[in-house]
Amino acid sequence: RIKPADRMEGLPTQFFAKLVAKANAQIAKGRDVINLGQGNPDQPTPPHIVEKLQEAAANPLYHKYPPFSGYAFLKEAVAKRYKEDYGVELDPATEVAILFGGKTGLVEISQCLLNPGDICLVPDPGYPDYWSGVALAGGEMSFMPLLEKNSYLPDLSAIDPELANRAKLMFMNYPNNPTGAVAGAEFYEDVVQFARAHDVVVASDFAYGAIGYDGVKPVSFLQTPGAKEVGVEFYTLSKTYNMAGWRVGFALGNAEVVAMINLIQDHYYCSLFGGIQEAAALALTGPQDCVAELAARYERRRNALFEALDRIGWKAERPGGSFFCWLPVPDGYTSEQFADKLLLEADVVVAPGVGFGTHGEGYVRLGLLSDEARLTEAVERIGKLGLFGG
Ligand code: PLP
Repeated sequence: RIKPADRMEGLPTQFFAKLVAKANAQIAKGRDVINLGQGNPDQPTPPHIVEKLQEAAANPLYHKYPPFSGYAFLKEAVAKRYKEDYGVELDPATEVAILFGGKTGLVEISQCLLNPGDICLVPDPGYPDYWSGVALAGGEMSFMPLLEKNSYLPDLSAIDPELANRAKLMFMNYPNNPTGAVAGAEFYEDVVQFARAHDVVVASDFAYGAIGYDGVKPVSFLQTPGAKEVGVEFYTLSKTYNMAGWRVGFALGNAEVVAMINLIQDHYYCSLFGGIQEAAALALTGPQDCVAELAARYERRRNALFEALDRIGWKAERPGGSFFCWLPVPDGYTSEQFADKLLLEADVVVAPGVGFGTHGEGYVRLGLLSDEARLTEAVERIGKLGLFGG
């Protein structure tokens, strides 16, 4: 009797839901499962931020509706952080939108910009939420392959100019989920040039901006001259401050796009709970040593994981950023078959690459989301399957 709207048909169920269900089935059987499949930070939020929320929750001002588009103090706090970290000037009043996590904005931007049939350029492999936004808007995706030989950057010169002229929006995500690749300033200069030449809006997803390795600090798209004319950056506290459950994110940059996103947010949410906004502002303006510690922790884990991979003979490139490792699947398996094998025979959950797009086939993604001992144990268990000749 219930007839869903056509747009529901294009909306896939959350890819991770399937992964979680498979892992839970094993846990229910009493198996000691090591879950490296999801991108959920395992560390708690720094205590000073939690304490600020506890205190702010008692403020009766926050028990009322928050102002539409959120409190100015939080927009000022994120603008200040961008100035300090990247030298980027943002007008808090017009160039900042507060989001319920980066996710909401990444979905909404397609609704802001795409009419049914409009083309959106999407990285493959890439974060699946880009697809959901395009599907809800009735847009069409054109995939940009991210290949190992190009360091997982899209080859902009390979995009058919006619197609590029028809595209209205393009997603970009460095440090990258799932490949762990990092982009440099020159790449973003090419992106701005491409966006200008073809009148395409750029959505730069900077969710892992705080996590760079080997002394490399990831570049923000907004550092590129002209970036604000052509696009926005999505920034989130989820990974930087271990605040994934708090749902605080931002769209930063182009004022016209920010205004549209704000308008949609106002209709859906009004804004986040004021106490969360106050604690989020403290995260951004308070001591930042927790962020450096967080990046160092992931780097130690990455190193431990790769030492263990080396011992079992599983050869792969180390990620330059993000907390993901992108590892090739041995011959004879699809990524899903291989992930199933690791779950059933080694009690290790990894994400099959095909879940991130057709060019993700042939790889699995491991998250650095357990301590070094657990990561090493996961690899040792995999090593016992004898698949790599190590
Ligand atoms: N973008 C990428 C690439 C992600 O991996 C994630 C979360 O896993 C997000 C965005 C969403 O982050 P948020 O928690 O801010 O919604």
